[in-house]
Amino acid sequence: METTKLQPLFNLQELETKFGRNGDVANGHKANGLTGWDILSVEQFDRDKLGYIFGRAEEMREMVNRVHGVDLLKGRVLTCLFYEPSTRTSASFIAAMERLGGSVIPITQGVQFSSVSKGETLADTIRTLEQYSDVIVLRHPEIGSARVAAEAAGIPVINAGDGPGEHPTQALLDLFTIQEEMGRIDGLKIAMVGDLRFGRTVHSLTKLLLHFDVSLRFVSPEILRMPLKIMNEVRDKGLNVRETHDVADVIENADVLYVTRVQKERFSDLAQYDEVKDNYIITPELLERAKQKMIVLHPLPRVGEISPAVDSDPRAAYFRQVQNGMYIRMALLAAVLGKA
Ligand code: ASP
Repeated sequence: METTKLQPLFNLQELETKFGRNGDVANGHKANGLTGWDILSVEQFDRDKLGYIFGRAEEMREMVNRVHGVDLLKGRVLTCLFYEPSTRTSASFIAAMERLGGSVIPITQGVQFSSVSKGETLADTIRTLEQYSDVIVLRHPEIGSARVAAEAAGIPVINAGDGPGEHPTQALLDLFTIQEEMGRIDGLKIAMVGDLRFGRTVHSLTKLLLHFDVSLRFVSPEILRMPLKIMNEVRDKGLNVRETHDVADVIENADVLYVTRVQKERFSDLAQYDEVKDNYIITPELLERAKQKMIVLHPLPRVGEISPAVDSDPRAAYFRQVQNGMYIRMALLAAVLGKA
């Protein structure tokens, strides 16, 4: 076909210098060791990588406070694919991408309107969405789903919760919050309260804490104890760990009280859920017995485990924890997309 010679619309060399070459991920640019990574489990993080991400998250906070946003990920597209409900994880990934100048395909409320509802497999959905995007964030009800997606995709996949399995980006923001609020992690006494069986956030956080010298206290009803596999990992590390059913046993010594929701959606027998759902309620009266310098965290949503009367206590750090989620996710997106 005859064509007239077109004047180029873009000076591609100049754009590459400014925004990075397309393919810098595929080309294996390794400046931070995270470029091109799928983030599937906290097991991928050692203390060095944690230090790197936390340092970047602090920079992100500083940047947002001063100038709101930058062009670092201009032109990059994130697909947020959520098969389970989400408020904070989806909104913070969207905000993170937009504050870095990128954009988002949000399939967060719309899975029921996408081809998933026609019976499309996860792998096919992922293979389709990767044609439009540079990174995919996935939440899915099945353990291992993020790995299935990562195997199907040629671009980074970030696990935003795989059923009762893991929630690595939440654990990173939880640990970052502990570091920021308490000034250290080593030496702390950390108590986790509630649904330790199905709570993916406590699974991931516990695994991350294996890199530190901490004491762990697990408070749960009998049927919601921390899975044996994770308990064994904690014991193998030689950490000081104890399980109890009673929050009164831990309240006086805890530096961090990490409270969780009982995960109703994971119960096949709702009568069992009703039996344990109100076992622990954190109130101002309970906190009178806690240290002055300690923090209360919660991945949220709460459905009654923390009385709203606790919110005005300076030790209630859960909304500061929410904000940290955006900075951590900004740091992760920049890292996996090659902006070391
Ligand atoms: N938002 C957290 C999660 O997605 C905690 C929860 O749902 O209770 O795992």
